[in-house]
Amino acid sequence: MKPLIVGNWKCNPESLKEAQKLFLELNKRMPKKAQAVVCPSFIFLKDLAARKSALQLGAQNCFYQSGAFTGEISVKMLKNLGVKYVIIGHSERRALGETDKLINLKLKAVLKEKLIPILCIGESKKDRQNNRTALKLKNQLKKDLKGIKFSKMVIAYEPIWAIGSNNPCRIEEATVTKLLIKKYLREVFSNKKAEEIKILYGGSVNKKNASLYIKDAKMDGLLIGGASLKAKEFIDILKQFC
Ligand code: PEP
Repeated sequence: MKPLIVGNWKCNPESLKEAQKLFLELNKRMPKKAQAVVCPSFIFLKDLAARKSALQLGAQNCFYQSGAFTGEISVKMLKNLGVKYVIIGHSERRALGETDKLINLKLKAVLKEKLIPILCIGESKKDRQNNRTALKLKNQLKKDLKGIKFSKMVIAYEPIWAIGSNNPCRIEEATVTKLLIKKYLREVFSNKKAEEIKILYGGSVNKKNASLYIKDAKMDGLLIGGASLKAKEFIDILKQFC
């Protein structure tokens, strides 16, 4: 199974023209067997979804209801555009005030519409220094997955201190943490179901370290921010697994 490589464009680029250019370049050069997803800003999704491509589309966020919620985007709206994945609980959103309770509601809404959530969890530098990584991740998973029956989902392990910092998580740390997450997922779901959940690593991934997370840390894929905005670098990463 090819690793799942997800690009999170965040609040970039700043015009549709640039987003189209990046998408078209990725589309033209991506290895056809790659399992790749890009998550552009909401406002580019309609245009990009209309293009035939092996690249799948994800959203960076969603709301859990429809109707009188000014400024929000519902899961059904995303589904109707052809979006397949939704990132939920990215640490940059948690930092803006998203709670585990809200993340849990969003996860339920995404699963109800049969889209695939990419649930982000991760510890702060302080948590890691104080040996609280396992506790932090377990607590996040416990609260975020509360009341959720097994469905197709993806978990992204993203240590907060490694995001956009050029200070990626050491491979040994990522290996141990992946096992920890798996162990907890086995406690929440059955052993067999837990095996079906892909675990991605995210945090300062680039073309030089990407394969270490897949081959050595045994991650099922990667969530990539900065390097996903450079078409050549993202393609170089995809090519390593095809
Ligand atoms: C991210 O934002 O999810 C991320 C992993 O960013 P970067 O690759 O730039 O560290």
